[in-house]
Amino acid sequence: MATMKCGRCGSEKIMPNLRIRDRYEAGMGQDLEVEIQGNPDALIFKQAHREALKATVCGECGNVGLSVENPQRLWKIYTEKKNT
Ligand SMILES: [Zn+2]
Repeated sequence: MATMKCGRCGSEKIMPNLRIRDRYEAGMGQDLEVEIQGNPDALIFKQAHREALKATVCGECGNVGLSVENPQRLWKIYTEKKNT
């Protein structure tokens, strides 16, 4: 596994794949997600697909990068949506 470096300050103090929590209600937190709707015009079955956002944080300067766990699945739904 290659050493990651911060894109802003060049530090190697990189913390990858941190969960991003929404605000807590009654002790429950929820991960932030991105959503793609396979069929956004449908009334009910929008075929929404969600992937949790993960943050990569620099422990030196605080730079944050976002990514999703499963980009291939999002891409598949995104491209299938465009083809219909
Ligand atoms: Zn940095």
